Amino acid sequence: MIQWDDGLSVGIEIIDNDHKKLLSIINQLSEAIDADATKDILENIFTELEEYALTHFKSEEFYIQKCNREGLVTHQEQHNSFILKIPELKAKLLSTNDYIVAQDTTIYLSDWLVNHIISEDIPLIRFFENCELSQNNKSNKKSLFKRLIKKTTDSLSFTKRIFYSVLIPLSGMFFFGSIILWNNYQNYEDMKSASSIIYTISNINVLAHNIQIERGLSSGYLTSIDNKFDNSLQKQKIIVDNAIVSFIKKFETIDKEKLIAIQSYINVFQKDMLSLNNLRNDVKNKKISQIDAINAYSEIIKNILSITPQIAFLNIDGAVSSSISTLSSALHLKESLGQQRAYGTMIIEKKNASRDEYVSFMQLLGTQKSFLYMFELTATQNETKTINTIFNSVTAKQISEYEEKLKNSDFKNLNSEIWFDSFTRLIEDVKKFEDQLLYKINDLIDHRIISTIQNLFLWIVFNSVILAITFFILYTLKRSATKQIFQLTDAMKDLASGGRSFRLSPIMINRDEIACMYDAYETTRQRLLKGDVFTQLYKNKKDIEVKNQQRENSKLEEMAFIDPLTGTLNRRKFEEVSERELKYAMRYNHSLSFLMMDIDHFKNINDTYGHATGDEVLKHFAHICKSIARDIDIVARFGGEEFVIILRETDENGAYYFSERLRNEVYNSNIMVENQVIKYSVSIGIASLEDDKNAKTILQRADEALYEAKKDGRNRTVVYKKSTL
Ligand code: GH3
Ligand code: MG
Ligand code: MG
Repeated sequence: MIQWDDGLSVGIEIIDNDHKKLLSIINQLSEAIDADATKDILENIFTELEEYALTHFKSEEFYIQKCNREGLVTHQEQHNSFILKIPELKAKLLSTNDYIVAQDTTIYLSDWLVNHIISEDIPLIRFFENCELSQNNKSNKKSLFKRLIKKTTDSLSFTKRIFYSVLIPLSGMFFFGSIILWNNYQNYEDMKSASSIIYTISNINVLAHNIQIERGLSSGYLTSIDNKFDNSLQKQKIIVDNAIVSFIKKFETIDKEKLIAIQSYINVFQKDMLSLNNLRNDVKNKKISQIDAINAYSEIIKNILSITPQIAFLNIDGAVSSSISTLSSALHLKESLGQQRAYGTMIIEKKNASRDEYVSFMQLLGTQKSFLYMFELTATQNETKTINTIFNSVTAKQISEYEEKLKNSDFKNLNSEIWFDSFTRLIEDVKKFEDQLLYKINDLIDHRIISTIQNLFLWIVFNSVILAITFFILYTLKRSATKQIFQLTDAMKDLASGGRSFRLSPIMINRDEIACMYDAYETTRQRLLKGDVFTQLYKNKKDIEVKNQQRENSKLEEMAFIDPLTGTLNRRKFEEVSERELKYAMRYNHSLSFLMMDIDHFKNINDTYGHATGDEVLKHFAHICKSIARDIDIVARFGGEEFVIILRETDENGAYYFSERLRNEVYNSNIMVENQVIKYSVSIGIASLEDDKNAKTILQRADEALYEAKKDGRNRTVVYKKSTL
């Protein structure tokens, strides 16, 4: 009888109930067989089973068709083969009276049903769950979050889940890292363009400086009568032209996008270069007054210098911008000084000044103050200190004295050359300072470029290292996890296929989820091992029982052909054996002799000592027979105190010799019973194989010889001889 186990459930109540019912019908059948029920009852139960199986199979197939069409055909085949088998089993059961054969049918039925549920129905659970038919599936009540997790876990392998859980945050980090990297790269590009812009500033500086010199020389040329400035002016014009060419060339290499902000200034510059040409012609032909020439030159220089502060507002690093602004203020300051030098020279030379010239001269002093103020706004303390040193120098003081006198129109003791030289020294000092500033800006930018490159490099190295380490760790983790899982899978497969030797060493250090799975596997393995041993023991026990039964049976069988008193073959067995022996000897032409023996006056022994003593004598005699006979000979009790011995491959002579030995042994032996010595003798008749058809004739002859022996006085052997009869 097999009881229902919930482990057999497929999760669909209707199907489970059907299975339970089928099992209970089979059990009912088994009980009926136990109770020796009539054939009618057994037939009814079988009919019920057949009908119920049919309806159940139909409903089961309906669900399968709903959820797993592919598996339907093979499943139907299984069902059909069972339906076909039922009448066969029924016929077998109804035709037998054997209990074991009858119970065999119920064992077959239960075995089929349980096997079918485990091997065919239970594997369908996942399809039923997918169809949301199975009651084990609680996903309907799951929250959106849990459903999302299930979807993810269903679609991604375990190792991929590990992989993505690292990769996603890592890619986030790399994404933001790349933004920083891009920003850094932009900075680098900006610095590179800033570097070329600085060259532009340097060119502007050179150009402005040279035009300033040209302005001075042109001013001198206009007032001198002897053309003493002519040569120097020509040379200076060439220097200015070269500076212009160099500026334009440099300008062309600059990224135009960066120059949009200063484009309008560049346009003005190009116009100014044309007006410079006209101005030069006017100066050459002395068609222009000195003051107008100075103003025209100053206008051009002012325009050129106005480019510099614009550059400071381009997308450049804060420190660089502020240094450019400082430089720009210094450049304007220097230009203003240059103008003042020119005006001053002119006024001292003329020892007079028009009102406009005077106002321009005074305005320049104010302009210088404002440039100095602007300078201090952006300059560092050191730079301010340097500029203050320049403006507190002896030269500067001398210039101040001249300025004071000029303000008061006191031209006495004023020398235009001293004025010019002093101013030139001051301007040179400022120029040197500007060069230092330019140098500093260059340095700053170079430094920034290097540090930007370093940052870029560091970032790339850092990223690569992190990436390499991450992939290495991921690879190692993935490998170890996969290895453990595969190991477990192999072990489970081995377990499922009946293996019990696959032992997983317990994970002691890191008691993680896999360790729990290992433990679960080990527990299962040990339980199954225990079960196996138990089954084996049970089987052994059964085997022993069967063997014992067989031994008992063979004992019973033996008892059926052994005489219980003497342990020799009984008459029935003797008859069977004697026929066989006769046939064998005839076939192979072997000799064969029969000894027919009868204890002499046995009745007297019984009468004298009692029946029990008679039995002892019989036992004694049988013992002597068995001890003298060979293993291949056959000793049998023929009846009462008569015994027979069949001597294989023994002729008359041999038989006679054997018989006499036996007879003498008997005759010479003493039996002690209750302190009395009993003696007895035996008469023996011998007949050997002649042309006998069966054992009866040879026995008959032996019996006749025995009769002769009795007649002749007993305790003797007589060999059957034809002539004697
Ligand atoms: P003879 O020398 O002519 O053979 O004389 P006998 O007395 O041996 O022969 P008889 O046939 O007259 O007697 C046989 C007796 O053996 C009769 C019977 O009571 C006895 N007997 C037969 N079977 C058994 C047995 O199993 N045990 C005992 N104790 N006596 C038996
Ligand atoms: Mg007798
Ligand atoms: Mg007798």
